[in-house]
Amino acid sequence: MPELATDKTCTGCMGCLNVCPKDAISTRTYPDGHLGISVDPDRCIECRMCEKVCPVVNGIPYGENNLKSRFLAGWAQDTEIRRRGATSGIAGAIAARVVADGGYAAGAVMEGLECRYTVTSDPAELPRLQGSKYTASMPGTVMRRIRQLLSEGNQVFFCGLPCHVAALLNYIPEKLHPLLLTADIICGGVSSPLLLKRYAEEHPEMTGVASFRNKDHGWHPKGYRYNLKYVDAEGTVHDTPSGTRNLITDGFACELTDRRSCYDCRFAFTHRRSDLTLGDLWGDTRFPAQHHDGVSAIIAHSPRGEEILRMAGIAVSEIPAADVLGHNTRLFYGKSVKRFLPERRLLPRLIRRLSYPALLRVYASDLRGAPWYWMPFALYRVVSFRIAEKIKQLKSRYIIRHLTQD
Ligand SMILES: Cc1cc2nc3c(=O)[nH]c(=O)nc-3n(C[C@H](O)[C@H](O)[C@H](O)COP(=O)(O)OP(=O)(O)OC[C@H]3O[C@@H](n4cnc5c(N)ncnc54)[C@H](O)[C@@H]3O)c2cc1C
Ligand code: SF4
Ligand code: SF4
Ligand code: SF4
Repeated sequence: MPELATDKTCTGCMGCLNVCPKDAISTRTYPDGHLGISVDPDRCIECRMCEKVCPVVNGIPYGENNLKSRFLAGWAQDTEIRRRGATSGIAGAIAARVVADGGYAAGAVMEGLECRYTVTSDPAELPRLQGSKYTASMPGTVMRRIRQLLSEGNQVFFCGLPCHVAALLNYIPEKLHPLLLTADIICGGVSSPLLLKRYAEEHPEMTGVASFRNKDHGWHPKGYRYNLKYVDAEGTVHDTPSGTRNLITDGFACELTDRRSCYDCRFAFTHRRSDLTLGDLWGDTRFPAQHHDGVSAIIAHSPRGEEILRMAGIAVSEIPAADVLGHNTRLFYGKSVKRFLPERRLLPRLIRRLSYPALLRVYASDLRGAPWYWMPFALYRVVSFRIAEKIKQLKSRYIIRHLTQD
């Protein structure tokens, strides 16, 4: 039997499932709601192709921490694409360019309450790809489709989670790489799909998510708030009232339901195998006039990455690496001690058993106005999160010092 990633390290990238010639690999759902795989021993012929693709066990590093890549600030110049973008529409502008040139764009879309990857060459489909979906995305068999398109001579742009890009690059044969353009994101981890499920149970009219985050009130580097909107069967969009917490976006921000692999992420590097890495330029002080519409941190790892930025009409300015490193540690440091907290360990049980108000308190830190007997928990929460933050700060400062001294 092949030796693949374990329940603790598996990223759910489905590289193994896509490559298996015998369809011996299927998906299964862990008790914490995240998707894993299982191998059917009766079908498996022990060819070990899955091991070569698995970005956790194949031994090919996804990147390294150095300053070889170029650090840029940027935004899409097309105002509609920029407005729809989670940050400033960089992924959206590249997808639009590639599709306009006759190629295909692949990315994550919401289908009801599930986040799945899709590939399209239809310009009308591209807005669905835009926007951050703060939940675990399911690759399904998208890699097989991309391989087929590439082998037919099409260019494909894939934007997704770093672990998924790693699997895709392992899966696609080297000779087809010149046609494949990849962007990954600065990834803070993906939360359990069970958060959406429990939220939807509490809001029975909900049939899907309209947006996890939008710029109705502008993109602000400081004091930023996620802004969840959901839709009902009639297509009516429901805005969550400002000043309230919700299990989906506040649950994501809490990081207590992340995939277990996200607490020890092996894909967080300043220099990566993807062409581009995209994120928010948090803490920016250089481009205040652009803050309302969003400013991206873009890390260009390859000449092809830089070229597509030019072709896609993206405004860029070179910035010092320190502008990104100091405010966005998930770019280069993927560990978190939150994995050891009892709330994370007990997630499979608590997510199903706790009432919705209790879930909000535990997994979205909504402790305002909680009854007095929640006070010890509130105190524990403040202390445990501060310790987690302090450890992250110390470790990331150490890495930044080494990076900037070299
Ligand atoms: C789960 C998650 C965690 C993130 N954590 C951070 C962080 O800690 N720091 C930071 O600076 N930025 C983070 N980002 C990235 C940021 O939110 C933006 O996605 C990024 O800046 C790209 O914005 P854009 O306007 O260029 O892209 P858009 O034009 O809005 O396009 C968004 C692209 O992201 C992809 N995408 C969206 N959601 C998912 C998903 N769930 N799985 C796979 N692909 C997806 C889509 O395929 C699309 O191509 C995170 C994003 C996600 C989805
Ligand atoms: S070893 Fe080969 S047949 Fe078996 S699961 Fe892996 S890819 Fe499939
Ligand atoms: S290839 Fe991806 S889904 Fe398969 S075992 Fe490895 S990490 Fe898990
Ligand atoms: S944090 Fe790492 S393992 Fe988790 S989804 Fe992001 S890239 Fe994948």
